[in-house]
Amino acid sequence: MSQKSIILDGKKVADDIKDEIAQEVEILVSGGGKRPHLAAILVGDDGASQTYVNNKIRACKRVGFEYTLLNFPETISENKLMSEIERINADDDVDGLIVQLPLPEHISSSKVTERIMPEKDVDGFTNLNYGKITSKNPGLMPATPYGIVELLKRYDIDILGKHCVMVGNSRTVGAPMSIIMSYHENATVTVCHIHTKNLEEHTKKADILIVATGKPGLIKGDMVKEGVIVVDVGITRITTDENDRGYYLKGDVEFEEVEPKASYITPVPGGVGPMTIASLLLNTLKASKNRAQLKQA
Ligand code: NAD
Repeated sequence: MSQKSIILDGKKVADDIKDEIAQEVEILVSGGGKRPHLAAILVGDDGASQTYVNNKIRACKRVGFEYTLLNFPETISENKLMSEIERINADDDVDGLIVQLPLPEHISSSKVTERIMPEKDVDGFTNLNYGKITSKNPGLMPATPYGIVELLKRYDIDILGKHCVMVGNSRTVGAPMSIIMSYHENATVTVCHIHTKNLEEHTKKADILIVATGKPGLIKGDMVKEGVIVVDVGITRITTDENDRGYYLKGDVEFEEVEPKASYITPVPGGVGPMTIASLLLNTLKASKNRAQLKQA
């Protein structure tokens, strides 16, 4: 009979990290240092994007960061958005800048992301910061993979030598996650994606299974082995008339089926999502300290 799994409580760990950051900010500021400042750009009025940005702003308030929220209409031109990014790049008080994705179709997300100054790229999305993942002294790490590694470490999960199966190879999550797990954490990594044949053959071999596909319930109970450690990155809004919001959030893992076999598992919501925000704060603090050091040099 299997033992009950341990829930990887991303919300609790993210709260602990926020407390640690808040303490550090107080020490910094009371010593005459600068309060870290995050700027967020939101284009349009998509409900999910607004919720994500509001959560990030709330997190900034909680840890004592300065924050600026710039909300532009859906119709803003790419050129105008680029010039706003240039303006924030040049604003000496701002340490971190994020542009909430997705952007409207007439704006190129990759061009916009690339315009952010790498030193202020606290989502860790620019080519320079991606390239630096394969450095022993990385730049600002992509926030979601960074948060996942931090979550596993805070539960003292030994990654070294484990077989990690990454389902999804996107630029945002799967690709950088697989590199971080192999290069920095020394796991043995298999990467699966939409073109992978016989997905379950791979997922069944995972000691650590990380899933980021946006396909709700893709991973079923019979696709994993006993004792697997499961990290579910997926978040999909499923329409329902059973609550006032009109939707609930579902991950890529069929939780009820997989949880009894897992040794550790993240819930959705309350797993990876809060850790991504915690990483964003950690990156902003790091960016702020790096910039202060550069000015002193
Ligand atoms: P994406 O659409 O860019 O990439 C999806 C990936 O899944 C691709 O690599 C694709 O090949 C793979 N895939 C799709 N269907 C598959 C299948 N049937 N079998 C195997 N692989 C399949 O998405 P993304 O940006 O990587 O995001 C994935 C999910 O993670 C989404 O639900 C997104 O909302 C969520 N997400 C959550 C956080 C967070 O903080 N919790 C952060 C980023 C993304």
